[in-house]
Amino acid sequence: MPPKRKQQKANGFMMFMIEMRPRLESDGHKFPNGLMDVHPICTPLWNNLTTEQKAIYNQRAKGGPMVKEEKLDSLGVPLAWKEREEQKKIIEKTQVFQKIEDLVSYFHSQGTLENHYFHLAHFNIAVATDEGEYPPCELAIVKFSLVDGITSTIHEFVDPGQLRLGYAYEAGLHSEKTHRIPACGFKLFNKNYVAITNSIKKILQQSDGGCAPLFFVDEDMAKAVYILDWLIEKSCQLDHSYDSCNPFKIYSLNKLFYELRRYADLNDPRLKFTSTTQVAEYFGNGMFQFSPNMACQWHEDEDNVTFCSLTRVRNYAYTISDMCCEHYGLALLPNRHVPASVADEYRYEIMPKTEKVNHSQKPVNKHDEEKPSDVVPRMPKSFSKVVMQTVGPRVAANFSSKSQGPNGVIPGAGRGILGSMYSPTSEPQFPGPPREIVTPPPAGRGRGRGLLLTSD
Ligand SMILES: [Zn+2]
Repeated sequence: MPPKRKQQKANGFMMFMIEMRPRLESDGHKFPNGLMDVHPICTPLWNNLTTEQKAIYNQRAKGGPMVKEEKLDSLGVPLAWKEREEQKKIIEKTQVFQKIEDLVSYFHSQGTLENHYFHLAHFNIAVATDEGEYPPCELAIVKFSLVDGITSTIHEFVDPGQLRLGYAYEAGLHSEKTHRIPACGFKLFNKNYVAITNSIKKILQQSDGGCAPLFFVDEDMAKAVYILDWLIEKSCQLDHSYDSCNPFKIYSLNKLFYELRRYADLNDPRLKFTSTTQVAEYFGNGMFQFSPNMACQWHEDEDNVTFCSLTRVRNYAYTISDMCCEHYGLALLPNRHVPASVADEYRYEIMPKTEKVNHSQKPVNKHDEEKPSDVVPRMPKSFSKVVMQTVGPRVAANFSSKSQGPNGVIPGAGRGILGSMYSPTSEPQFPGPPREIVTPPPAGRGRGRGLLLTSD
């Protein structure tokens, strides 16, 4: 009898890949090298699973029974059923991920990726109920492209309406711990759901009449699905002739960021994040969240800027700009790609694309005098040109520094938990009914107070 071959021990991730493979194949994926090819697609999905979800696969790998008998959770829901529902969600996510990949790949092939507008969104909620409801209380959306940065913004305090009975206390706690917006009786709440929904439709409207997708971070997806349905429903209640069809598409911002950075140079492995989960850490590390003029006026006055929806969406745009534009050879514009205050503190200079590797290793160069340069790749339309060379130590996630490497996320710097680094300044913004705030193009020299600008 031949000696027994030592079998490779299965682990939870392997069980997950084995299970996902036929599903991915039915979605059109091809795996000529077997699990080797399944691996890169399943890694971000696996990283997005909760500890409980992973435990199911780890248990399976140990040969243990998955669910021997009908086990119920604390609410009496069968665990097996819950697991199936979770798996369904994972599959849906895979399909959406594929769509984003196809989208970015298509624009890249057309040479229009840098000019394409993406809509980044955030909702604050009054409370999350066990019934899966997430009545909103604040929303913000920015229209953003790599070339132009943020070009327009909408922000609104949405009246969450009557909360489900028994949730007033929980809503109070949630408000206290996060955004501090009162769940009822808040003077800035807007009840005109028709106007709110229309303003979202308007900012998303494309030239062909279609509706552009909204990008949310993965942890906000379930909320977003609920709230956009909710807005349509509320609008229909208010106006019986309102179109009940929901035109909104919700895509993963994590995946978008992952792809935008990867496509800057497909041959540069440093530009590939290890997972879409890692991407969220860059959003959460607080690099821009404490800059002035990030939050809405009310949150500025409350001295609670990090939980403001407007801070969140601006932070998404600035973080993506910081980590991508340089690699596309694109200029950073104050208040469009980077807060003007950050731009003030660290002077920028024109940086030829060919020299960017060497330049990016250097510390911040401060210039007191304008330094003209004629080698400027892909300029953002007619605006003044500024390139962020590096933002120095404050930009924790920027891997310009050699020692940190592309995956060097500052540990322990979680979402919204960092102490305030700056005292917010007050500048009247836009409370009241929803309206699109169009960011004016930076005026060039003088506007950025000491910022080094070179005009065309
Ligand atoms: Zn706010």
